Amino acid sequence: MRVFKFGGASVSSIDRIKQVAHILRNESNLLVVISAMGKTTNALEKVAEQFYAGYRDEALALFKQVKDQHINTAKYLLVTEYLACEQALINFFTEVEWLLYDKPVRHFDYYYDQIVCIGELLSTCIVSAFLNEEKISNKWIDVRDVFRTDDLFRDATIDWAFTQQKVDELVKPLLAQNRIVVTQGFIGATDENESTTLGREGSDYSAAIFANMLDADYQAIWKDVAGVMNADPKKYPNAELIPVLNYNEVIEMAYYGAQVIHPKTIKPLQNKGIPLYVKCFLDPSLPGTVIHYKPIPALPPIIVLKESQVLLHLKSKDFSFVGEHSVLQLYKLFEQLAFRPNLTQNGAISFTCCLDDRSEKLEQLALAAADFFDVTVEKGLRLLTIRHYVPEIIATLVAQQKIVLQQQTPETVQLVLH
Ligand code: ASP
Ligand code: MG
Repeated sequence: MRVFKFGGASVSSIDRIKQVAHILRNESNLLVVISAMGKTTNALEKVAEQFYAGYRDEALALFKQVKDQHINTAKYLLVTEYLACEQALINFFTEVEWLLYDKPVRHFDYYYDQIVCIGELLSTCIVSAFLNEEKISNKWIDVRDVFRTDDLFRDATIDWAFTQQKVDELVKPLLAQNRIVVTQGFIGATDENESTTLGREGSDYSAAIFANMLDADYQAIWKDVAGVMNADPKKYPNAELIPVLNYNEVIEMAYYGAQVIHPKTIKPLQNKGIPLYVKCFLDPSLPGTVIHYKPIPALPPIIVLKESQVLLHLKSKDFSFVGEHSVLQLYKLFEQLAFRPNLTQNGAISFTCCLDDRSEKLEQLALAAADFFDVTVEKGLRLLTIRHYVPEIIATLVAQQKIVLQQQTPETVQLVLH
């Protein structure tokens, strides 16, 4: 069997959903994981933010746009399957609306997950109904009945043993009885049936978990690009396709923030030696990129740029060394807040870390760290990482920008730029 994953961009319009059906027309023995449509996750994030800030009417108005978009898409695509699909969509809308009429009493991440998870449920309902309408018979399942997680909302961890058992009990029989099983990425549920999410772009990871647990022959991720590129083509017009990669390189790229694949995706595949194909859904005849465990030829420089970064400068209050104890305290904070630095630098009496500019988390971290450090925050930065670099490329990419911090190994250079 195989696992296919379609990202938000592959289901962002009527034509694209039709293209998904085209790709699946002759498939069988397949599990399909689908993301929320287009920018739905971002839109739902805004709903959650407005709700949590106490702006119920704004939250409801924003949510109405999401509803209308999905109803309209379903109307365009469906005839015989429309009414059943509409009913399923309305049930999911109602779940969210009930919550929006409440007052927030728990922390933000909890509400975020209850609201944002709806995006994948809506998209998969519509695509599954459309496939049925096209006589591509398939079975839709709610992945929250399969993926059990802890309650670290927005960054939930899979309960591997429980989930494997559910995959064996529920998913394997369905795959035996149906040509295609359609389900969601990115989401799961706690043992109290609260929805959770696995971190932004988490659908690749969901698909890899399925591939691992189902012993897939391979996983394919269908994207709106030709394959894995050595840089983001939107930012670097000279970006080139990399036809063959291995797990090692990809896990490093993802770790440094390359948007190609969710960082957690590789481990479940590597552990079972399952190859990963990154394919272009606009033109399935293109070879794309294959990622496997074998050695690979020399690679071009691989460029990863992370925008909206901050540097948190921590200095010991009384000129004492920043030793194991205070570093340990800091790492405990990173873990508690589920807020990990993208780069750290340790000095005698200072510790600097580069983080994503997420104001809520940043504030909490700075406040807690102020107990044992003098804290200053430097904003408006970007983090540039180049693997397999050559001096010329550093010079070109840094150009007029000010280097605030630099770290270098023979393989990788990282620069915090202003
Ligand atoms: N829909 C989620 C997101 O946009 C998960 C995913 O697409 O992988 O982050
Ligand atoms: Mg996506």
